[in-house]
Amino acid sequence: MKKLLSIVVPFFNEEEGIEAFHASLSAVMDGLPTVAFEVICVDDGSKDRTLQGLIGLRQRDARFVVVELSRNFGKEAALTAGIDAAKGDAVIPMDADLQDPPSLIAPMIEAWQSGFEVVLAKRVDRRSDSFLKRKTAELFYRVHNGLSTVKIPANVGDFRLMDRSVVDALRSLPEQQRFMKGLFAWVGYRTTTVEYARSERAAGQTKFSGWKLWNLALEGITGFSIAPLKIWTYLGGLGAVLSLLYALFIVIRTVVQGVDLPGYASLMVAIIFFGSVQLIGIGMLGEYIGRIYIESKRRPVYLVRKQYGGRSE
Ligand code: UDP
Ligand code: MG
Repeated sequence: MKKLLSIVVPFFNEEEGIEAFHASLSAVMDGLPTVAFEVICVDDGSKDRTLQGLIGLRQRDARFVVVELSRNFGKEAALTAGIDAAKGDAVIPMDADLQDPPSLIAPMIEAWQSGFEVVLAKRVDRRSDSFLKRKTAELFYRVHNGLSTVKIPANVGDFRLMDRSVVDALRSLPEQQRFMKGLFAWVGYRTTTVEYARSERAAGQTKFSGWKLWNLALEGITGFSIAPLKIWTYLGGLGAVLSLLYALFIVIRTVVQGVDLPGYASLMVAIIFFGSVQLIGIGMLGEYIGRIYIESKRRPVYLVRKQYGGRSE
């Protein structure tokens, strides 16, 4: 029996790119006759003709399965939907814009067949990303890995191969807020890396604005670390000790020099500073409490309106 490989691809307003994606991916799949393929295309509530394009693909090429979500749930949820629908012995999530080169699938399969359960695709060359994106990404990995016990490998995206055992482990994680890079890292397993140079987007525009990326970064950090919550205990403790020392200093000075009035400016500074520190602390609490609130509703991660193909066992 041939092994089945599921390729999971989230699509959000990618109509211009579908044909190029199909051409490039099917060329790679045709060149690997020793494995069978299914391509789970998740339409993440696209507003353009992406869904029609994907259904057209499926009519021409039965390896393509289309999962239509009921609205835009975001990339993490779309990936989750695709991974849930995948039946392969291994799963490879990849982007629809060909920034994850399909030519890497062959070396990934090779590493998998030699016994690795996770094969990461590492971007050794990110020149196609803007300077700002590279720097903010670098900062994110540094902050995240400094705060969290689960380390996310730098410059590794969602593009990777995962054995069925890893996929099942991933699916057993119950959380609703799915920061995939973190969850992938959390499950562990025997891992190796293949390297590639990140290419430009084949067609269309990026779907991630700075604000969306900022929120994704917050999701990652709050989902995997409680250090930002705990830091306030220490900051508060430090502030208390310093203010006690200062009080002591004032008492001594009053005894030695007598009473004087100046000090309005330093008082204002202290009030504003500690007021802001408290606001930051409360905001930090809000980030977590908001997530507890959303998580406690136990809503599904995504809703499927319709699936085209791929259901029969
Ligand atoms: N995507 C998605 N839902 C969204 C945003 C993006 O499914 O709400 C998909 C998008 O279609 C693409 C992948 O996620 O296949 C990566 O998006 P993009 O290429 O815009 O991100 P970038 O490479 O710029 O980080
Ligand atoms: Mg992209």
